[in-house]
Amino acid sequence: MHTDVTYSNIDQIFTLSGLRSDHWRELLAVARKWSSEKASVDQVKRVFDQLRAIEMLHAYPGAQLIEALAAYIETDQKEAFNALVGRISFSILARYYKEDPHEWEVLPHAEKDIDRNTSSTTTADRPYFEVLVVAPDNGDLINRNIRLMRSQRQKEDEFIYEPLVVNNFQDAFCAIAVNSNICAVAIFDGFDFASHQPVPQLERMMSDLNIHEDDDHLALQLATTLSAHRPELDIYLMSDQRPQNIASDPRSICIRRVLYAVEEPIELHLAILEGVRVRYETPFFDNLKRYAQRPVSTFHALPIARGKSVFHSDWIRDMGQFYGRNLFLAESSATTGGLDSLLEPTGNIKRAQEKAARAFGADHCYFITNGTSTSNKIVLMAVAQPSDIIIVDRNCHKSHHYGAVLGGLLPYYVEAFPMKEYSMYGAVPLRTIKQALLSLKAEGKLDRVRVVDLTNCTFDGHVYNTRRVMEECLAIKPDLVFLWDEAWFGFAHWSPFLRPRTAMGAASNIEAWLDDPASITAYEQQQEALGEQPNDEALLNTRLIPDPRKVKLRVYQTNSTHKSMSAIRQGSMILVKDVDFYGIEPQLHEAVFTHSTTSPNQQLIASMDVARRQMELEGYGLVSNSIQMALDIRNQINKHPLISKYFRVLGADEMIPSEFRSSGFEDFLAQGINWSDAVLAIRDDEFFLDPTRITLICGTAGFDGTQFKSLLADKYEIQVNKTSRNSVLLQTNINNTRSDVAQLVHVLLEIVTELGKKLSHLGEDGKKSFNERVYSLMSDVPDLPNFSYFHETYRNDVAGVAVEGNIRDAFFKSWSPENCEYVGLFSDECDRRLQDGPPMVSAKLVIPYPPGFPILVPGQVISKETISFMRKLDVKEVHGYEANRGLQLLKLSSSDTP
Ligand SMILES: *Cc1c(COP(=O)(O)O)cnc(C)c1O
Repeated sequence: MHTDVTYSNIDQIFTLSGLRSDHWRELLAVARKWSSEKASVDQVKRVFDQLRAIEMLHAYPGAQLIEALAAYIETDQKEAFNALVGRISFSILARYYKEDPHEWEVLPHAEKDIDRNTSSTTTADRPYFEVLVVAPDNGDLINRNIRLMRSQRQKEDEFIYEPLVVNNFQDAFCAIAVNSNICAVAIFDGFDFASHQPVPQLERMMSDLNIHEDDDHLALQLATTLSAHRPELDIYLMSDQRPQNIASDPRSICIRRVLYAVEEPIELHLAILEGVRVRYETPFFDNLKRYAQRPVSTFHALPIARGKSVFHSDWIRDMGQFYGRNLFLAESSATTGGLDSLLEPTGNIKRAQEKAARAFGADHCYFITNGTSTSNKIVLMAVAQPSDIIIVDRNCHKSHHYGAVLGGLLPYYVEAFPMKEYSMYGAVPLRTIKQALLSLKAEGKLDRVRVVDLTNCTFDGHVYNTRRVMEECLAIKPDLVFLWDEAWFGFAHWSPFLRPRTAMGAASNIEAWLDDPASITAYEQQQEALGEQPNDEALLNTRLIPDPRKVKLRVYQTNSTHKSMSAIRQGSMILVKDVDFYGIEPQLHEAVFTHSTTSPNQQLIASMDVARRQMELEGYGLVSNSIQMALDIRNQINKHPLISKYFRVLGADEMIPSEFRSSGFEDFLAQGINWSDAVLAIRDDEFFLDPTRITLICGTAGFDGTQFKSLLADKYEIQVNKTSRNSVLLQTNINNTRSDVAQLVHVLLEIVTELGKKLSHLGEDGKKSFNERVYSLMSDVPDLPNFSYFHETYRNDVAGVAVEGNIRDAFFKSWSPENCEYVGLFSDECDRRLQDGPPMVSAKLVIPYPPGFPILVPGQVISKETISFMRKLDVKEVHGYEANRGLQLLKLSSSDTP
């Protein structure tokens, strides 16, 4: 275990929950030293006091155990102290306290029997959570209320919770930030503002969030603050005022129920359980489980349903044994029996989707069982019509290009900034997007531009400033539709830091802005400053404000639920916030019909329902944890004296050019980085790096990406995400544990140790060839080809500029062999045609893996740059290109050739 890692503040800010286990580890270490006389009691006290400040934000271990520890220190009982610290820290790590009531006792195996229902403790078979009670310091009264709440416990309760009491605003905020067990908050009027404990990091965070004592209604201010940080929490307000007065305040929208404090501890208990039950309920999955238990005879076409053909078989019984009975019992092609229909949901699928929409901060949600590949095609088809123009990242997932082919949409490709050194692309600068809109406007085509279609975050972790992109685009065209492909980023809603940069997070911030009367003034002032006919340069250089009266906010997000949450492969969601939703719903419905299977998999639908439940109840903690793991990996690799000799993880400063980091944010690991820097960067910078996507440079160890990926997989059972010429992409998710991190670091250490040995045995020649290999991987890298342009056959505009093209015509023209010809990539003819023409026009979408972006699309004129890039590619898998036949080209009719 690494205790020598020095954490910069940023770690603690992104993942405050990580503080806790670090402090316990530290206390355990010092307790051991104390018991062998190697540490003084003052050292023990110092660590213990720090920890106490954090522990008061958790229900376990609670006052009783903490006081016992304090007493052991006072009375110099080193062994007892050491033992109890060991037990508590282990219980926290292994989560025993959630299941075993004895863990809450000072003497664990005391003879007395603990009543599992009414004791202050928990039971194994029911999910456990904590309730934050914020109440004034009125001793007896609050204790009486807590006792009353506890005494309401029934054997029949589905869940069990422990209350955790704080008496001020600051502690309340700290509690929900660090304690991911908290699922509900009960606020009693009359609490203080300031914390009585010094918690320096947290205090700075509060002041940076601009949270100050306010003479306004403090309880409502607290409710809105907590809910902005963790919107999934159920918040209850116990007020002495007339509840109606509070309920009429618009800020009370985030409060689940207002109760009259004096009379209702029982009501509060029931409301808390009911609130969690609402999130726990998975309408489709619950019903599927019931369905599986029913004796059903099937006469429809799905022999595998009920599993009789499997379990009665002599030959395929092992399939049944492998997957278990329930998989077959839960299979059906029926949409009756309460199973609902994914294509026309009216029952529990409809309710499951509504719950997902609410959970993800959207107005509407569609479950899609064919992956985000299909979700993207559905959205494009629904919101745009043939001949509409879409502004799209050329480097996006292929489903967008195929979506344009299917829908007859004209893509206007915009380029991401290149990261030539690592053979990958970043994201599309906003200036480029605005320039595209302004050019189309100049050509009189703005009214045909329907969609701006971007990937957030990109494969390598570039996160857009989604709000700024949408606002500035809406300033040029106020009814644009945005499609944000958040295939990898669905989890981000559960991080308060990343949420504002999700499509839905940004959309709801824009909604709030639109409702604010000050926005009109801001818009009008900017108009005045810009003058009557601002030129393009002025518009490009200004952070444009849209006209709030004209904006029609239409935002779509697609996410591969299976890529970042607990859904089965292909589970995908479309999230919608569209003021025109009821106008477009019929088209959306048709588009779903067009692209979806008529035999959706029940398990897949159920898994999306369950993934939503999980995120609403524990997503905050899981996502914090995966960010913590990622920061750990970054830290341990880059700061390890041996590993960092050959490997390194790219920081934000290397992934994002400084012009897109106006805040000056450099990296999570940079010296002196603090909370304010990160908040500023997240709010202002054009791009921000998702910490969970980790680009590990392996070229410096002499491996190309593919080679290194295979080494990790074949020899060490470590699977990584994707590769580039000189890097592999590691990714942490809600599934990772500290052991995974330890294993990775261990393996890297083994690899560098071997490498070091090998190099020291190589003679000068061997070292020279190693260095040459490193040079070739790291420095002799091919230029990344930009999109050239569509051949004039596939557009009706001036030649030479990158304008929108008719990808669909080109795509289908290649269906007839007589329209096609082949030219060898390395042939003389290829060089001749580049030189003298006629231009070579691609018939295919050509996508090398890696890097996985299309270097050619149908109808595109092939440039010299593309040919040299392809010639330097050393990958086996190139979709749309057959090495033995050459490049498939579209023949030009005689009128097309000069
Ligand atoms: C994986 C991916 C998709 C496709 O999603 P599936 O669920 O695999 O169909 C779309 N866009 C991006 C950016 C992706 O990474």
